[in-house]
Amino acid sequence: MNKAMTIVYEVDEGLYLNITNRCTNRCEFCIRNNGDGAYGSDSLWLEHEPTREEIVDAVFSRDLEKYSEVVFCGYGEPTVRLDDMRYVALKIKEKHPALTIRVNTNGHSDLIHGKNTAPSFADAFDVVSVSLNTPNSQKYEQICHSVYKEKAFSALLTFTENVKNYVQKTLLSVVRQSLTEDELSECYAIAEKIGVSLKVRDYISSESGV
Ligand code: SF4
Repeated sequence: MNKAMTIVYEVDEGLYLNITNRCTNRCEFCIRNNGDGAYGSDSLWLEHEPTREEIVDAVFSRDLEKYSEVVFCGYGEPTVRLDDMRYVALKIKEKHPALTIRVNTNGHSDLIHGKNTAPSFADAFDVVSVSLNTPNSQKYEQICHSVYKEKAFSALLTFTENVKNYVQKTLLSVVRQSLTEDELSECYAIAEKIGVSLKVRDYISSESGV
């Protein structure tokens, strides 16, 4: 495993932020299982977890005018640093109020922090994309191996349902190759019931991206 301090990296027109390597899942399809980077980036394994000031400095070392969005994504679960993530997002909003800020999350924020965290997304974030991954708790446990075990799946659904009231757009996402056609249909039904869109993406290796 190569380590570096790649706090920001570009993906298409977005600026992605890598603020932690900690995660509450061990997904079998995780890009981290077969490489060190994403989208041709340098290693996303961090030499140390950057302070909020280091993240702000890394963000503002770039010309933010040239990006269509800033994405908290990382090589880990960004909401383990919810307060720091919000701090950085608000700093960006101060100077670039029109720039879209997205969070890609596994939806475990409430379990991580032991409370309803959805209100913490208000004003700081525009889009929240939650990895649904599977249509039920059993399969989620089988392929995501969460530290929260059977609580993980229902918690991510509750989080999604709550956070959609605080941001402009909320999505659930799945990896097409992980699901049967029937399971994919079930995922669409879950998204519809919660009242959000389902994003179906292809599996991407570390050679090409997350
Ligand atoms: S939640 Fe994301 S970062 Fe964590 S193991 Fe799964 S795919 Fe990897």
